[in-house]
Amino acid sequence: MRLKGKTAAVTGAGSGIGKACALRLAQEGANVLAIDLDGASAEKTAEQIRKAGGRADAAAADISEKEAVMAVAEKAAKCFRSLDIWVNCAGISVIQPFLAEDSEQVWDQTMRVNLKGTFLCCQAAVKGMLGHGGSIINFSSQSGKKGTNQYAAYCASKFGIRGLTQSIAAEFAEENIRVNCICPGVILTPMWDKQVNDYAKKKHITPEEVMPRFKENIPLGRLCTYQDVTNLVLFLASKDSEYMTGQSLNLTGGACTY
Ligand code: NAP
Repeated sequence: MRLKGKTAAVTGAGSGIGKACALRLAQEGANVLAIDLDGASAEKTAEQIRKAGGRADAAAADISEKEAVMAVAEKAAKCFRSLDIWVNCAGISVIQPFLAEDSEQVWDQTMRVNLKGTFLCCQAAVKGMLGHGGSIINFSSQSGKKGTNQYAAYCASKFGIRGLTQSIAAEFAEENIRVNCICPGVILTPMWDKQVNDYAKKKHITPEEVMPRFKENIPLGRLCTYQDVTNLVLFLASKDSEYMTGQSLNLTGGACTY
């Protein structure tokens, strides 16, 4: 067990990648606080960890609300001895034409959740790690490396997360608080269930053609899996990556090499 005695907070832990991270960190011995907008789904993740013999608690919070984030950080401090790892998985994604009528609303909401939410969670994480250090892992995307059409708000928010990561990493390196971010390619999660039709529409293909089309453009010939992404999260959370901070790591099967 690589994280025995450590405490990890994971946002977006009720679904997709966040849930997979919470379960994997717990398997490696971490005490986990599962955080999600939907408290019931976070509680399900925590329950699954406890049933498997781990230690976990759950909290509902909108990560774009400062008070909610600070309350959750306090809960983490109360539940467990210290805060060592914070994984920022919560995020939203909307595919829409740049000139769509409600594009301003989508822009504001995407920036609020993806960028401001990650910023607020990083503040909470840093405060909890001062004095003993820790590892913060943010989620950018391959869309944080290359802008694509009908994805302006999402791409801008994910580029922003890389800048935020580098800035905090530089500011808190001397406190031994490491901050890195992961830029995955496509992983089949509930996020994709919600947006596959919009993606198909923008590419003029059927929804069934979407995933095979992605695979064609991935040198390693397959989509990213939960195992792939949690392997990297575990590496960044553990001492194995103790000399790494401020990095944006591609996890794209070779599709993105810059
Ligand atoms: P997901 O299955 O939709 O999970 C996202 C989770 O975040 C959901 O549980 C959602 O709660 C929660 N959430 C949304 N808004 C929130 C808020 N304001 N406060 C707290 N929680 C909130 O998505 P995913 O695919 O696992 O994505 C996880 C992260 O990886 C995201 O940052 C995403 O951009 C990034 N990523 C994903 C992919 C991919 O292909 N899946 C690729 C690259 C990067 P509700 O369900 O209750 O709304």
